[in-house]
Amino acid sequence: MKFYPQQYKLPDVSMQPFIDDEEIWDFINQAKAEPETVKAIIAKSLNKNRLSLQETAILLNATDPEMIEWIKAGARSLKEKVYGKRIVLFAPLYVGNYCSNNCRYCGFKASNTTAVRKTLTREELIENVKALEEHGQKRLILVFGEHRTYSAAFIADTVRDVYQVKKDHGEIRRVNINAAPFDIDGFKTVKEAGIGTYQIFQETYHHPTYAVCHPSGKKADYDYRLTALDRAMEAGIDDVGIGALFGLYDWRFEVLALLRHVNHLEACYNVGPHTISFPRIQDALEYDLDDTYQVKDEEFTRLVAILRLAVPYTGLILTAREPERIRKEVLAFGCSQIDAGTKLEIGAYAENPDVDQNLSKEQFKINDDRTLNAVIDELIESDYIPSFCTACYRKGRTGQHFMEFSVPGFIKKFCTPNALLTLAEYILDYASEETAAKGWALIGRTIDEMEDDGYKDKVRERVERIKKGERDLYF
Ligand code: SAM
Ligand code: SF4
Repeated sequence: MKFYPQQYKLPDVSMQPFIDDEEIWDFINQAKAEPETVKAIIAKSLNKNRLSLQETAILLNATDPEMIEWIKAGARSLKEKVYGKRIVLFAPLYVGNYCSNNCRYCGFKASNTTAVRKTLTREELIENVKALEEHGQKRLILVFGEHRTYSAAFIADTVRDVYQVKKDHGEIRRVNINAAPFDIDGFKTVKEAGIGTYQIFQETYHHPTYAVCHPSGKKADYDYRLTALDRAMEAGIDDVGIGALFGLYDWRFEVLALLRHVNHLEACYNVGPHTISFPRIQDALEYDLDDTYQVKDEEFTRLVAILRLAVPYTGLILTAREPERIRKEVLAFGCSQIDAGTKLEIGAYAENPDVDQNLSKEQFKINDDRTLNAVIDELIESDYIPSFCTACYRKGRTGQHFMEFSVPGFIKKFCTPNALLTLAEYILDYASEETAAKGWALIGRTIDEMEDDGYKDKVRERVERIKKGERDLYF
């Protein structure tokens, strides 16, 4: 089969818009999913090659159940070949829900007068971070509405405050942010505070749908949002996350547009996004859209498998928006991160768990409200290694996912050992007795299975040091 070169109508010029709706539809409309072609494309991905827009469009058009199974099996095997068993855990922390935009799907929109507006005070922020630390969280993503209060300087101060909070053995070792786009100086300001990933979702890449969903406020400017990560890169932030909100428009279009975004960043900055997120739209207060483009469970799992094959070396983030059964299926396709123990109500981490959660302070409803310990327990049961690793970011090994993928032995040398060390810390400091027993068994089993090339002993020795009270050991 012939593999096509990537050809675009719009050239990739940095800081310039690059999405042409017609071009994306042309790729989809011209793609024919013949069995032999689909097999060849999957094989190309399993050989660790990125797929082109044409090739991905062919997978998107595969509707035959047998072909869909090949695609899912391909994603499972890529995950096993490349990523191994660990899953990185994090929690979102909503800092403030004032918002001057009117995104039609979001409970925080300005026109929603029933929403209780709140920005955590510094004291409340600290209380919430302590509560998260008391559960064992080590990685947070701070989330903000779009409002003049949440300036780059305010967000940078919040990030610094979070890093300062230490409770017993607890500390937050990586703070990511999901916030409105800044100008280049704003991005420089948040970079100086030591953010991990800057994440922003285009929501929908389809211009007419974007205009309908974002009728007013700064977010109505499609191009300013689309080029946000160009400005982040210009400001020196090379660790960025993209995403689309599935359910606003045709899911096949959004997958291809996400890939187009990856291509743009790679072409202009020589580095693609660290992560891709694919939230599915959830019910929210004053939700104001019909369900024409609702993504069914089967389509959702298929689209995650296709993304995995299309960009084999990019991290995929699954969120608590998805119910447990969906999480289980798509984790096997190589999602590398999930949130756990999530509470979306502002300030809720530090509140009494017996108090009813209140949708008026939430952005939308979540479908998985298990505790961090329950998620960790289930991951261990399913033979995954829960990980709180932050080593690459702190050792300056950026572009982490690319390295995991392309540097031989990287996962064996760094990711698996670090996952085990952070799991050992979690077990000693936070796990229930039952989870601890399963966790130690997993750690023992995984070390036993490691090759005898020096690393096995090093990992054993560090686990023993952690047992004796040392913390934050990593490779
Ligand atoms: N205000 C900033 C913005 O809009 O980029 C950042 C925070 S916003 C709270 C984070 C993300 O939540 C949005 O990018 C959107 O994708 C997602 N979101 C909003 N409403 C949602 C809903 N009803 N269901 C699922 N996700 C939603
Ligand atoms: Fe505001 Fe973000 Fe919600 Fe839009 S998605 S209303 S910008 S918080």
